[in-house]
Amino acid sequence: MATVRLHQLSQTFDRQVAIEDISFEIPDGEFWVLVGPSGCGKSTILRSIAGLEAVSSGEIYIGQDCVNDVPARQRDVAMVFQNYALYPHMTVAQNLAFGLQMRQAAAAEIREAIARAARMLDIEHLLDRFPRQLSGGQQQRVALGRAIVRQPKVFLLDEPLSNLDAQLRAEMRTELKQLHQQVGITTVYVTHDRTEAMTLADRIVVLHNGRIQQIGTPAEIYDRPCNRIVATFIGDPPMNLLTASYQDGALSIGAARCDCSASLHALLSDRGDRRFDLGLRAEAISLVAPEEGILQSRIEAIEPLGRETFLRVSLLDASPSADRDTSAKTTLDIVTIDRVVGRVGNTVGLRFDESSLFVFALDTGECIYQPHAPQAASVA
Ligand code: ATP
Repeated sequence: MATVRLHQLSQTFDRQVAIEDISFEIPDGEFWVLVGPSGCGKSTILRSIAGLEAVSSGEIYIGQDCVNDVPARQRDVAMVFQNYALYPHMTVAQNLAFGLQMRQAAAAEIREAIARAARMLDIEHLLDRFPRQLSGGQQQRVALGRAIVRQPKVFLLDEPLSNLDAQLRAEMRTELKQLHQQVGITTVYVTHDRTEAMTLADRIVVLHNGRIQQIGTPAEIYDRPCNRIVATFIGDPPMNLLTASYQDGALSIGAARCDCSASLHALLSDRGDRRFDLGLRAEAISLVAPEEGILQSRIEAIEPLGRETFLRVSLLDASPSADRDTSAKTTLDIVTIDRVVGRVGNTVGLRFDESSLFVFALDTGECIYQPHAPQAASVA
């Protein structure tokens, strides 16, 4: 096991910057998730740590050692890819044994390592099968098993669950987390799936256009996003955005007015800008009768999910966020635990507490005001 430290890592392909000035240190044994939209540089970082990509500048440390010039085979990392990459002509047991045989481990050691990994992953009954005789989930377990038997210093996982169906993904997420708790190996996990990032990570690194936007625990990233990019990427559904103008102690969203608290007023009145993006989480908006709403909206979709109901509404009297197409309707996503009596096309009022508002600078996207984080429930 080892720490992983990146220092000012940059990578350029054909003069195109893929990642820029990436620095972080993963403490020994932690599970970190790199998340961001397609093309933001997640895999480039992972492949650089693995030694599959020579970096343009910066240093990579595994433990105390700078590994920039160490070939991939000698970095003592194990990588699991989205496509499993099992050897089709080998049985599961042979696939598991292969890495150790290459290292010329003793036969008894190999047998023991296979038995231990098979037990952990519940694949003991599959050891004599070939990959083609396995389901996607079983193949994924074998790929993980192949990484585990080597007991590397670092696990590097690149979208390992994305070929699985939704239910299996959720199951494997839980298992992966348990597995990490058992083996305790420092892990870097790449995904574009925000739920996967939230549920698996000790810490999340949010990337955009090759740069780090924020590093934090899942709760920090959700409760305290540093900017509009993070706020609208993390969370399912993502945070709603509305453009508002500030004047005389109130925020106007289209024709609607929302009075500011003294602290928000003090903050906004001190700034030169008068227009802001407001952020509202889906669960912070309440549905009320039209005459009681701060905002009026039309119901566009209702999706009952059992424990909660998801609604999409379009605003009847607000301007869309400045970073979106101004000809587009402004839609908001709402999640409520109340049973919803209503239909698509109905008009409904929306209320929210000012204390649940996030405020972002319109030009830079920086988060300049945010609600108090919810109280933590101690389960220690
Ligand atoms: P995805 O989620 O789609 O896999 P990603 O966040 O992992 O995306 P990368 O694969 O790291 O993104 O790619 C980052 C950028 O670098 C992209 O613009 C990509 O086109 C570019 N890129 C990656 N590898 C190469 C390469 N070998 N040659 C040229 N450009 C590359």
